[in-house]
Amino acid sequence: MGLISEPDAPARNAGLDLGTLTMTLEAIREYVSRALPDDRLLELDHDDICPVDVVRGMCSDELGIQLLFIPEEYGGMGGDTVDVYRVCEQMARLDVGVATSVLATFLGSDPIFVGATPEQRAGWLTEIAERGVLYAYGATEPEAGSDLAALRTTAKPVIEDGHVTGYRLSGRKQWISNGGIADKYTILASAPDGPSWFVLDRGTEGFSQNQPEDKHGIRLSNTAALYLDDAFVPAGNLVGGIEGHGLIQAQKVFGYTRLMVAAFGLGGGWSALDRAITYSATRIQGGAPLSEKQGFTHKLIVPHAVRLEAARAVIEAVAARIDAGEGADGALNAEGAIAKYTATEAGNLAADAAIQAHGGYGYTRPYLVEKIKRDVRITTIYEGTSEIMEMTIARDRWQQHLKSAGCYYPDRAAALRALHVRHPDTGAETAALACEALAGVLEACRIGRLTRNQHVLLRLGELVAAAEAAAWFAERAATASEGNLPEKADHRFDATALAAMSRVFARDAAHKVTCDGLRLVTGAGGQPADALLSLDAVRAAQAGLISDMDHIADILYGRAGAR
Ligand SMILES: Cc1cc2nc3c(=O)[nH]c(=O)nc-3n(C[C@H](O)[C@H](O)[C@H](O)COP(=O)(O)OP(=O)(O)OC[C@H]3O[C@@H](n4cnc5c(N)ncnc54)[C@H](O)[C@@H]3O)c2cc1C
Repeated sequence: MGLISEPDAPARNAGLDLGTLTMTLEAIREYVSRALPDDRLLELDHDDICPVDVVRGMCSDELGIQLLFIPEEYGGMGGDTVDVYRVCEQMARLDVGVATSVLATFLGSDPIFVGATPEQRAGWLTEIAERGVLYAYGATEPEAGSDLAALRTTAKPVIEDGHVTGYRLSGRKQWISNGGIADKYTILASAPDGPSWFVLDRGTEGFSQNQPEDKHGIRLSNTAALYLDDAFVPAGNLVGGIEGHGLIQAQKVFGYTRLMVAAFGLGGGWSALDRAITYSATRIQGGAPLSEKQGFTHKLIVPHAVRLEAARAVIEAVAARIDAGEGADGALNAEGAIAKYTATEAGNLAADAAIQAHGGYGYTRPYLVEKIKRDVRITTIYEGTSEIMEMTIARDRWQQHLKSAGCYYPDRAAALRALHVRHPDTGAETAALACEALAGVLEACRIGRLTRNQHVLLRLGELVAAAEAAAWFAERAATASEGNLPEKADHRFDATALAAMSRVFARDAAHKVTCDGLRLVTGAGGQPADALLSLDAVRAAQAGLISDMDHIADILYGRAGAR
């Protein structure tokens, strides 16, 4: 997305200033609230209609969201990764379906950012900035979803006078966001030298779109299959002008695009949870508001706020690293996967809890939490399923464990213990326990060759995500207590609140990694390593859990004495 540096890539976007970002977030809120008030959202969801006029309005002079993502040299505003995360979260808070439609253009133009020639970039990106051209991203096929290498769509060169003048695309694409409404499509197809991206115009002969899918959620977004039957594209529409770079180009942007979907999970989850908080403050049962029932808040509200904010810590850390130039060539793919996995699973669980928090009302359509739950569900599936995220995370960190001779997580634990010395209230020491236990689990897996069980490998992905999110959360809480959170970061919670949330999350992570790790290693026939046996320390670290949760509940409900 223009932020990934390549030899030919445009300069990394400098980012918006705080004033412009704040104005943009507010303009999005105002525009969508006016165009799509709650009753209209419910109606469109019920009737399964994509509000194309609203999507186009957002991507035109009316709102101009498309400008955010385009570098200034092509007429855009040059938003950085942090801007993009904040905007994606805001859009998803309003409607994950509309967010998907608007953001599909940026997903669709990713292969251009990463792989196009400077001339192609100038042409296609300027067109998005100036005319609000809508894109769709056509990678998935009926037989090629998680495994894109299995793609069957072909690109057959058309040769005239010994030169390739174009390609004829044939095949089928499945589940394509904006499939039925886009102006242009980036299509992944197998050329003689390998998978390659092509830009295809709507209206091309031999190219048609199916009816929209009847989906479980995000019913305000258009999702359709695409049919390609010898559809001709000129040679100049082969992205980058060289065949065979398609899968590499797709890989290069994952750290970034997965962060966008992570932000959708965060926005959807918080949207549902905030509704549950509001509802429970006035819903009287057993003689008092539900918000005063600890059994209610500590199950249905507090843990979800904690998980969502842990996910935010990961997203903000990864976004900052991409903006610092670390994301080139897919270098932060594992981190992007941790962000997506943590945020979308948290968003999904939070939305489910929000239904429960509304009781019978939550189970009915007039209550938006029912819709949000269906909407946010997609975030654990598209742009890489949660299981593919687990695999990506586990494989990367397994390599790190081996390459560092087992020192990767002990080193992180040492850094966290040093952080604990400076900031003893941020949960850093407990996060260190999680990292040490993780090192023990990985080592036991190495000795016992346990990752030959795919189940073990994927569960390791889950444990890695828990331990690393705890580490990032402790670091964010420490930065907040130093008063150093970046100005464009989210500032909903103050340093005290973040520290309490981080402590709760770290306790959970240390407990999970140790207990699930022990079970996994033993279950696969391995021998737990010493570090795994430090259950006593993990147990001791649980002290203070309930009072921290009480404190967080007070903060979320704005009760006196919360600070
Ligand atoms: C509403 C919607 C919008 C979408 N938008 C787009 C879009 O704009 N562009 C686009 O290209 N695609 C899009 N997709 C497709 C989406 O990215 C895929 O659905 C997703 O990647 C999963 O692929 P699949 O559906 O083929 O499932 P599969 O890959 O068949 O997976 C099925 C299940 O098996 C698991 N699984 C798969 N492989 C493995 C493995 N090796 N080991 C263990 N478990 C495995 C998966 O996690 C999943 O649980 C969209 C999908 C939906 C539903």
